[in-house]
Amino acid sequence: MSNCLKISFLLIAASLMLPLASISLQPASTEWPIFWEIRAYIVNYTGVTTMLIMSMTVILSVKHWPFEKWLAGLDKQYKLHKYLGIAAVLCGFVHWLGFLSDDLAMDLGYIETKQETYPFWKSITQLGDPAQFIGEWGFYISVVVAAIALIKYFPHHFFQITHKIIPYLYLLLVLHMLIFFEASLWLTASGLVLAAIVLLASIASFINIFGLNGINNCTEAKIVAINSFNNGLEVTLQAAENIQHYRPGQFVFIAFDQKESPHPFSIASKVSQTNELRFLIKANGDYTSTLADTLKLNQTVKLEGPYGCFDFNDKAAHQIWIAGGIGITPFISALESQPTYKKIDIFYTYKQADKGLLKKLQALANDRNITLRLYETSNNERLSSKDILKRIDRIDDCSVWFCGPTSLGEQCKSLFQQEKLPEKSFHQELFSFR
Ligand SMILES: Cc1cc2nc3c(=O)[nH]c(=O)nc-3n(C[C@H](O)[C@H](O)[C@H](O)COP(=O)(O)OP(=O)(O)OC[C@H]3O[C@@H](n4cnc5c(N)ncnc54)[C@H](O)[C@@H]3O)c2cc1C
Repeated sequence: MSNCLKISFLLIAASLMLPLASISLQPASTEWPIFWEIRAYIVNYTGVTTMLIMSMTVILSVKHWPFEKWLAGLDKQYKLHKYLGIAAVLCGFVHWLGFLSDDLAMDLGYIETKQETYPFWKSITQLGDPAQFIGEWGFYISVVVAAIALIKYFPHHFFQITHKIIPYLYLLLVLHMLIFFEASLWLTASGLVLAAIVLLASIASFINIFGLNGINNCTEAKIVAINSFNNGLEVTLQAAENIQHYRPGQFVFIAFDQKESPHPFSIASKVSQTNELRFLIKANGDYTSTLADTLKLNQTVKLEGPYGCFDFNDKAAHQIWIAGGIGITPFISALESQPTYKKIDIFYTYKQADKGLLKKLQALANDRNITLRLYETSNNERLSSKDILKRIDRIDDCSVWFCGPTSLGEQCKSLFQQEKLPEKSFHQELFSFR
């Protein structure tokens, strides 16, 4: 199980436990039968858990807090954001079902229509429609936005546009919560934790609304060279400001033009004094396919970063590097940077050879006495986890750095762990945030 999944379970479990400290099921009375008690309990309880989990989801959308370091990379931070987002929608669903349960019970004849006397529901009746409207429609919109994010059929830019609604929606749901959350509960354990997390998430929402997310990590750069390679471009940028603080294997967001939102690309060059950064950009989709025709020398671009913890920094004396296709970029940066005194084996699989790139890789590997094994899938040379295992004496003594197809990554992780590779020794860069 991935670390993100484990942390998600932990956070969700804590969010489910917390309201138990202050929200309780009251005894039924003749005026307030058990059905209404259970309903009030479920609605209050799931309301608090939904807001706790949704708030953590929103907090994780902000890039400049130190979560990235704790979670071993922005890709992992966004993965956790995704799992928590799904959990928030599921909790919201139970909250919505609980709220509507009286209509169903009345329709089925289990309970009678009643005049509210219980203070919580009385306040709902008095505040009436606007607050309920926000809650109900907030839930429907969250479901649609989450579905668009999860279903890869929807293009990435459509997912990004629809995601922009979330901070506004979140602030409206905070209003919904403030109206309905019982005032006496704010000074309980759940009330205080909820208040702190909601405050942080509200700040995160404003950071997103005002476009400040990652802004203190931005610099301008100029395109100083463009070369083509197999199905892609090698682009060299000259950054206006000092960007020497990145580590090999990190990535930046590049906005080549103002109309398109920034795209993440790994830095493929060594850390240098000249502020020059090189990128290998594969024509992978709608936007990257247009770059060959649109990029111009001396064009100004915006850089944001560096981000990522795929930096080859560990204590293992023997590292296994596994790259697939364009996933070779972080490894090139590492090979070009400081000489390493570790033993390294590289396994590189790709569809079609780019002679220039392979020649360069081989030269870098020879310089550093590193074993490079190549697998060209168009020649039926398939790389498998078993194949890697056959060529390594003791995988449990190594650390593995993987950037390539997710399915191969999962295969390698599961097989190597069966061979006693500790989980923390398998590092994977995800070339996707969705
Ligand atoms: C950490 C990281 C490092 C990467 N490094 C490289 C690299 O060195 N070289 C390289 O060629 N590619 C790299 N990529 C992938 C690259 O970002 C996508 O191929 C590119 O953004 C596709 O854009 P598109 O509009 O052409 O494709 P689309 O057809 O729109 O999308 C294809 C896929 O790319 C991803 N994507 C699209 N737009 C964005 C965006 N704005 N932000 C995040 N993901 C997006 C989505 O997962 C989408 O499913 C990296 C991705 C990540 C997450």
